[in-house]
Amino acid sequence: MATHRTKMLIIGSGPAGYSAAIYGARAMMEPIVVQGLQPGGQLTITTDVENYPGFADVIQGPWLMEQMQKQAEHVGTRMMWDTIVDVDVAGGSPVKAVGDSGDEYIADVLVIATGAQAKWLGVPGEMELGGKGVSACATCDGFFYRGKKVAVIGGGNTAVEEALYLTNHSDDVTLIHRRDELRAEKILQERLLNHPKISVIWNKTVESFEAGPNGALHHLNLRDTVTGDASTLDADGAFVAIGHAPATELFKGKLPMDESGYLLTEPGSPKTEVPGVFAAGDVTDHVYRQAVTAAGMGCMAALDAERFLAHLEIDADGHAHAAKEAVAG
Ligand code: FAD
Ligand code: NAP
Repeated sequence: MATHRTKMLIIGSGPAGYSAAIYGARAMMEPIVVQGLQPGGQLTITTDVENYPGFADVIQGPWLMEQMQKQAEHVGTRMMWDTIVDVDVAGGSPVKAVGDSGDEYIADVLVIATGAQAKWLGVPGEMELGGKGVSACATCDGFFYRGKKVAVIGGGNTAVEEALYLTNHSDDVTLIHRRDELRAEKILQERLLNHPKISVIWNKTVESFEAGPNGALHHLNLRDTVTGDASTLDADGAFVAIGHAPATELFKGKLPMDESGYLLTEPGSPKTEVPGVFAAGDVTDHVYRQAVTAAGMGCMAALDAERFLAHLEIDADGHAHAAKEAVAG
């Protein structure tokens, strides 16, 4: 168990966390990034990324995140293989955090970049059949359904991309959506609707996942959202792709959040209501939720953190405390 003292603590290692670290390190804030359970964040569970600026060719999500980590380290960021389990932001700067390693982190500024996690339907069979047919990550588990029948639930970009990806493994992919219109980008919709291996079931929700005699997924029970009729769909694999929830459990009762749990910040800025505490990326953004917007917010958080630190006085012991004229202008 150790205590790590730094000017800038960043919780989370997705595009927001790494971008904050790159800017923070170059501003001599000696950032520490606590990486959490998913180093590199959500893009590490996808394959092709073709909308992150700067790459003429299609790049791979895990590769992009590896590059961001290396860039952050190259300019002086310390990476910690730890997960924050408690934070104390009540008194403002300095803030304290505790990792599940038992290590303590004390920092003058905090950037929260904990992102978001996959949502589940919460229906019978979903958890029980996890690893036996039900998954939330086609790129991770699609290979196991080579030549088999698979279903994807959802109508956003993730669901459509998962369905398209699964055609690499399966000739029989069904997308199930609860409405008669997709939320996904038009270009992805076109690819999906014109794909010979994909069919779409409209206006249906999944009521349960049912196992066969071998204990693995056998079929899905569906309900029509318009007529109320029940039906079934046989499938060996089902991929739930209905979006993500912000990873903000840690901050409940400590920082303001909206009804969905997204951290609230000053409009157009990463500043939370606690001076010196910033939020960036998917943890505060339920609208755009893109790697490039998360990276942009990470940059903004680091720039605001730098301004915040410039308003602190450094006492003789080298400890920082808030200056009278207040902060974060
Ligand atoms: P995340 O990437 O979610 O990272 C969160 C980080 O916080 C993780 O490192 C996690 O380990 C860490 N963390 C969480 N809790 C703790 C804790 N308690 N302590 C320490 N660390 C913690 N966007 C695009 O622009 N282009 C795409 O092609 C694209 N494809 C996608 C494909 C899929 C399948 C998915 C799911 C998303 C895709 N997105 C895409 C969206 C994009 O991945 C996100 O918008 C982006 O990753 C958000 O970045 P972030 O840094 O805010 O958080
Ligand atoms: P999303 O855009 O929120 O879409 C979630 C989908 O799941 C919606 O179609 C929704 O239906 C459906 N859904 C939600 N709850 C459901 C439930 N209980 N039962 C049945 N269906 C349910 O989530 P996402 O697709 O994961 O995308 C998240 C963000 O990442 C988006 O901003 C997206 O643009 C981004 N992303 C980008 C790319 C890319 O740029 N290539 C790829 C992947 C993700 P309704 O439509 O009826 O609400």
